[in-house]
Amino acid sequence: MRTLSQGQQVVLASHNAGKLREFAALLGPVGIKLVSAAALGLPEPEEDAADFAGNARIKAVAAATASGLAALSDDSGFCVAGLGGAPGVHSARWAGPSKDFAGAMEQVHQRLGDTVDRRAWFVAALCLAWPDGHTATFLGRTDGAVVWPPRGDKGFGYDPMFLPGGTQATFGEMDPDAKHAVSHRARAFVQVLAFCLG
Ligand code: IMP
Repeated sequence: MRTLSQGQQVVLASHNAGKLREFAALLGPVGIKLVSAAALGLPEPEEDAADFAGNARIKAVAAATASGLAALSDDSGFCVAGLGGAPGVHSARWAGPSKDFAGAMEQVHQRLGDTVDRRAWFVAALCLAWPDGHTATFLGRTDGAVVWPPRGDKGFGYDPMFLPGGTQATFGEMDPDAKHAVSHRARAFVQVLAFCLG
C-alpha cells in the first residue's frame, strides 16, 4: 500500500481555484504541501469516463505520470433527482467555457420547472495516484434539495442553489468550516486521510 507522509509534495490534479482553496484548507493541518497542476503547467486531460470515479482516475494518473509526484484529483458534480441525476458528470460543462454558473443554475431551474421532487446531491470522487500507476479512489456524497432563487456568495459552482439536508443555509451561505463539516468533498477526504496517514 502506498502512503503520503508529512512534508511530502502532492500535485492537485485540478485547475479549479475553488477546489484548490478547499483542499489547501483540508491538507494544511496534516503538513502535506499541495502544488497545483496549473502551477506546474500540466495539461488538462480529457475527462471522458462515464462516472465520477473514472474521471478522477484519468486526472490523477495523468498528473502523477507527467509530474513524477503523487497526485490527488477530485471529480465532482451536482446531481438532481428530477433531472435523472443531471448535470452530474457534466456539471462543469453546463457552465460552458466562460464558467457561467449563474447560467448553469438557471438551466437547472428551468429544466426542473414545477417538478415536485426537489432532491439533489453532490458527489465527489477523490483519486490518489502514484507515478508507478498505483491508484486508490474514495467517494463522498451529501444529500439535500434544490432551492430557488440561489442564496449566498461564499462558495462556488452550484453552491447557492443547494440546501444540504438538516440545515437552513445553502452551501453558498456557509463559511468554509461549516461546508467542510458536511460536504461531499470532505467526506471523501476523511477517507483519504485515514488511508494515507492511519
Ligand atoms: P470537475 O472539475 O470536472 O470535477 O467539475 C466539477 C463541477 O461540479 C464544478 O465545476 C462545479 O460546477 C461542480 N461542483 C463540484 N463540487 C462542487 C461544490 O462543492 N460546490 C459547488 N459546485 C460544485
